[in-house]
Amino acid sequence: MDARAVATERCDYLLKLACSNWKKEPSLAKRYVTMARRLAMRHRVRLGSKRFCKKCGAPWIPGVSLRVRLSQKKALYICLGCNKVKAFPYSGK
Ligand SMILES: [Zn+2]
Repeated sequence: MDARAVATERCDYLLKLACSNWKKEPSLAKRYVTMARRLAMRHRVRLGSKRFCKKCGAPWIPGVSLRVRLSQKKALYICLGCNKVKAFPYSGK
């Protein structure tokens, strides 16, 4: 197993921890997200764009820290930590 595989695993674990701690301790959860992002940057691991807020660092849990609204051709992801709205296009049928 190379360093990047370990980093990928650790990032997943950190984001999981962030999600499970969000309700109890938001500041701790945000710190986990920061750590995961830093680790991902160093090892060029992709975390995906829908797992946490890039603005405030809150882990996104649908219904808890994230609200999703669908409009014409995009999904609006509304972060409940900072109220930032991010639009993701999707192809409808
Ligand atoms: Zn946010």
